[in-house]
Amino acid sequence: MRSEERLNSPSIPNDVEVALERAVAAHRHEHLFAERAANIKQSAVRDVFDISMRPGLVSLAGGNPFLQSLPLDKLGGLAYQLVTEQGLTALQYGGGQGTAELRRQICEVMAEEGITDADPANVVVTVGSQSAQDIACKVFCNPGDVVLCEDPTYVGALNTFESYQVRAEPVPVDDRGLVPEELERRIAELRASGANVKFLYTIPSFNNPSGITLDAGRRQQIVDICREANVLVLEDNPYGLLRFDGHPLLPLRAGNPDDVIYLGSFSKILAPGLRIGWALVPAHLQRRFYLASESVTLCPPTLNQMLVSGYLESHDWRGQIGTYRRLYAERCAAMLDALDEFMPAGTSWTRPDGGFFVWVTMPEHVDTYPLLHAAIDAGVVFIPGAAFTPSDKPSNKLRLAFSAVSTELIREGVRRLAPVLEEAVEK
Ligand code: PMP
Repeated sequence: MRSEERLNSPSIPNDVEVALERAVAAHRHEHLFAERAANIKQSAVRDVFDISMRPGLVSLAGGNPFLQSLPLDKLGGLAYQLVTEQGLTALQYGGGQGTAELRRQICEVMAEEGITDADPANVVVTVGSQSAQDIACKVFCNPGDVVLCEDPTYVGALNTFESYQVRAEPVPVDDRGLVPEELERRIAELRASGANVKFLYTIPSFNNPSGITLDAGRRQQIVDICREANVLVLEDNPYGLLRFDGHPLLPLRAGNPDDVIYLGSFSKILAPGLRIGWALVPAHLQRRFYLASESVTLCPPTLNQMLVSGYLESHDWRGQIGTYRRLYAERCAAMLDALDEFMPAGTSWTRPDGGFFVWVTMPEHVDTYPLLHAAIDAGVVFIPGAAFTPSDKPSNKLRLAFSAVSTELIREGVRRLAPVLEEAVEK
């Protein structure tokens, strides 16, 4: 049917016709998809995130940073100044590795956590740490290769692994993080079965989703096990500086420059919408990593890099991190208090030292995914645990985020959630 005929045809509703045409086109193109595209899933977190925007719901789902505490006027002034005074550079393509100034400043940020030997030449600025994970897969992984990860782990990384047809093999954790003996055993088993194990993807500080931190005493042990087995470590550390009390723990990368690719991000210590993250790459791997990054993005966004540089240069960013730390500490305490007050017997939860998340464990017989409907009816949203593990098995866990919600709403959200969980425990 030609388009003017279609407009003149009142008998067929336009949206039905469009849907039909789309279905026919989808059928025609189905066989063109690459195998890897079949594995790309909409993130479960995204699904719930959309629901959580509904008015009246308390969202304990999204791990969004609380941007209200940023100096927005100052950032706005900087952005204006950059475009009006340095627009010909700020709006132009830049180098694929990122600006020299930002790479130097990133080394100062990493020094705050105890990485004191970073060379700006080995820093690659990326479009968030998410794209650094993608680049790592692009550089190291063939379809069918294996990467190890914590169980549970970050859902965005799992999606990236799937899109490269990489098998993510979970390694058990306890309340002190990855269990070294389990890691060693798993690597040996996988090797014996002929698997190509490429790297350990780990979030050692304030894990997303569990909130668990890898014990200081285990950190070197984990790197040593990987080094011994010739497996790289991909250390994802977007929350490391957000420790509530005391100094940040030494990252795995500190003291292990040849065995660890360190991923950092401005998403949690500044703003995720800028999409600026980085990888500190061992010198002997830097070139491959940087060329792979360039092949995807040409260069990271110049204006945003300059904005981050201007912010780091002219603002007390350490003070801003301090503000975030106090804020999240207070919110975490409010969540733990509410859990103590309202949670039914038979449930337990982690007590994080930093970051954004608490991980709740229900009795074994409970599957938390179907509980989401009842929770939404009760006016609260969480992320079911199944999203954070590579297996298809049901999960008796759930993730609660305290970062983006006021202490009052956190208490209200947990109060609404408790009867839903209680009913499930009793079934
Ligand atoms: N890694 C982890 C562990 C995360 O929690 C997140 C975001 N929630 C990311 C990476 C992605 O961060 P970015 O915004 O830097 O891409």
